Amino acid sequence: MLTRHLLKQASTCRHFLLNSKTSSPFLTKSILFSSSSSSPESQSPANTFVDDKVKDQYPTGTSISIDRSALYNLPEHSHEPTSDSELVKHLKGIIKFRGGPISVAEYMEEVLTNPKFGFYISRDVFGAEGDFITSPEVSQMFGEMVGVWAMCLWEQMGRPKQVNLVELGPGRGTLMADLLRSASKFKSFTESLHVHMVECSPTLQKLQHHNLKCFDEDDNSDGVEKRTVSMLAGTPVSWHALLEQVPSGMPSIIIAHEFYDALPVHQFQRASRGWCEKMVDVSEDSMFRFVLSPQPTPATLYLMRRCKWAAPEEIEKLGQIEVCPKAMDLTRTIADRISCDGGGALIIDYGLNGVVSDSLQAIRKHKFINILDNPGSADLSAYVDFASIRHSAEEVSDISVHGPMTQSQFLGALGINFRVEALLQNCTDEQADSLRTGYWRLVGEGEAPFWEGPDEQVPIGMGTRYLAMAIVNKKQGVPVPFQ
Ligand code: SAH
Repeated sequence: MLTRHLLKQASTCRHFLLNSKTSSPFLTKSILFSSSSSSPESQSPANTFVDDKVKDQYPTGTSISIDRSALYNLPEHSHEPTSDSELVKHLKGIIKFRGGPISVAEYMEEVLTNPKFGFYISRDVFGAEGDFITSPEVSQMFGEMVGVWAMCLWEQMGRPKQVNLVELGPGRGTLMADLLRSASKFKSFTESLHVHMVECSPTLQKLQHHNLKCFDEDDNSDGVEKRTVSMLAGTPVSWHALLEQVPSGMPSIIIAHEFYDALPVHQFQRASRGWCEKMVDVSEDSMFRFVLSPQPTPATLYLMRRCKWAAPEEIEKLGQIEVCPKAMDLTRTIADRISCDGGGALIIDYGLNGVVSDSLQAIRKHKFINILDNPGSADLSAYVDFASIRHSAEEVSDISVHGPMTQSQFLGALGINFRVEALLQNCTDEQADSLRTGYWRLVGEGEAPFWEGPDEQVPIGMGTRYLAMAIVNKKQGVPVPFQ
């Protein structure tokens, strides 16, 4: 008992307590409205599919250890009633059995993708009824434009007969559904495709299967794997938990929309003794709190790598830095695959073309909340460091990296203006309103100028907050529309 008491006291001395926050200076993931004060449920999502009569117009040595000796240990047999969720109990269990705090990255990973209790694992979190909204859910035109990009790249690749079309983190499958539906008239393209959905959530995998209008072919033959085919374009579809599980040996077109922002980030804070990693601990009153690591942590190696890619002036002005080792490693995996097999990748996300300081945010029901508040009940996401993606990809030979450009430039150059005009020729008044609002949300900036509803519900444009970057095999030249 005495030992535990001393450990508690020591813990308070060894770790600098940090303030948690309800919002950071960055505005990241798209909530439906500019303010969180009113209920979003009164609005319906703008993704009303408009029948397509006009698609043919598209062109074809240091050892680092963490000193956990002085950390607070939770009482082992607490008889106090607890209303902790299963995820909260699990997180506290990790901290207890490790004998010390966990990194923000580990916290984020558990919160989002813990196989039993993770935020994404067992529910649909998208749209007006969910927690946040993404571009494919805003308008069918988003998936259609990404489809135009994929077809142009396929042309530049020399129209290969077999291609993996891979989507990382497909959410509801809306982007892929709109892509396949709009590409279905281009038979030589769709016949070359095998769609691979990389998704960790069984619930979302089922929703994707439904939204891609998939059917499972009868398994008559011995030992031959059952094929699943999307009726939207007659393409075979497979699901995987990891990109590494997608078969290699043929070119790939890889799409990552709002995937990188869900990858866990490590946070570092400048202190008198140098850069210290921000960690998540449990306080004496059993609440989560941030502490600073007393010594370098393993992730410090990634911080050093990231800082080497930046100008000293860029780092000097920062008091905090976020690094995302998983983003660096994933980019390397993508680039290796493209270098060996050919093809390219499109990454669209909100982020910066430089070092990210302090962007991690929690969003529940379209409102920003405290990151440590009831983990598992809110989305956690961070700004994507596009410069780090570029540097990670450029370490691989035969690869070229293009962009980032803003989403507005990207969609504009691919012809979204023509697309919206064409769709407006053929729709009801209600669909026209939805199309115009959806178009504006995808390419607009700031608050919607046409908005006549309550101020606190004004839609915010995603056109400049979201950036697009392409990684391609050099032999294909510069991809559309990055020329
Ligand atoms: N691209 C979709 C969804 C973005 S949300 C859209 O724009 O609407 C992030 C998606 O990535 C979800 O489908 C989530 O379940 C999935 N995801 C998050 N982390 C993952 C991981 N480590 N591995 C596989 N899928 C992941």
